[in-house]
Amino acid sequence: MEITVLSLFPEYFESPLSVSILKRAIQKGLLKVNQVNIRDFATDKHQKVDDKPYGGGPGMLMKPQPICDAIESVKREGSHVIYLSPQGAPLKAKKCEELAKYEHLILLCGHYEGVDQRAIDLSVDEEISIGEYVLTSGAPAALVLLDAVSRFIPGVIGNEQGAYQDSFHIEGEGLEGPKYTRPPEYKGLKVPEILLSGDHQKRDLWQKQQAKEKTIRRKYDISVD
Ligand code: SAM
Repeated sequence: MEITVLSLFPEYFESPLSVSILKRAIQKGLLKVNQVNIRDFATDKHQKVDDKPYGGGPGMLMKPQPICDAIESVKREGSHVIYLSPQGAPLKAKKCEELAKYEHLILLCGHYEGVDQRAIDLSVDEEISIGEYVLTSGAPAALVLLDAVSRFIPGVIGNEQGAYQDSFHIEGEGLEGPKYTRPPEYKGLKVPEILLSGDHQKRDLWQKQQAKEKTIRRKYDISVD
């Protein structure tokens, strides 16, 4: 899978892409990430990519022309263009799974106060938000989406089925229950006896029950938030 990120600060992505799972995915050729600097598409001599919004309001907006030209320069048949935006549809696990099936994603990062609406109308297929808060730019959001989507590319995480056994995929949209490793006791807290008992049937049942309870508790917490 190929992901092209359009931003004003390509260097933002250097470190996260050069460690751990994403680094290995890139080395193995399972994931290819291209960085494009939108400023390279500015046509005036000062390479200006932003301007004051019509109608007033704080800050600056990204102009449509450099964005549309940047997208056009990398778009091909099969590309899917996403604008990371707090106004977009919320990013969920199912969506990540769906996006991993595209051969080429183009991720547009906004900066300043966002982008001119015409860039979205002309060049973007969908807007996605990573949560109900506002970030300083689309770069961290693009990184989150890239990371979460890449877990669904076959071979990226060790266990092929892993991504489908994690939270939000268990029995519908359930969460994973509590997990433990060595030592069997830490600061007075013991690993539940059933996990050490060797009775696999009982253990599986207990784990399912715990996961269900955690999911219900969490849904309740969200509903009363
Ligand atoms: N004025 C915009 C608004 O109120 O909707 C916020 C602009 S924000 C300061 C700058 C850029 O950060 C946006 O263009 C977008 O690309 C990105 N961004 C901010 N919050 C985001 C979120 N929750 N999800 C995805 N992208 C986000």
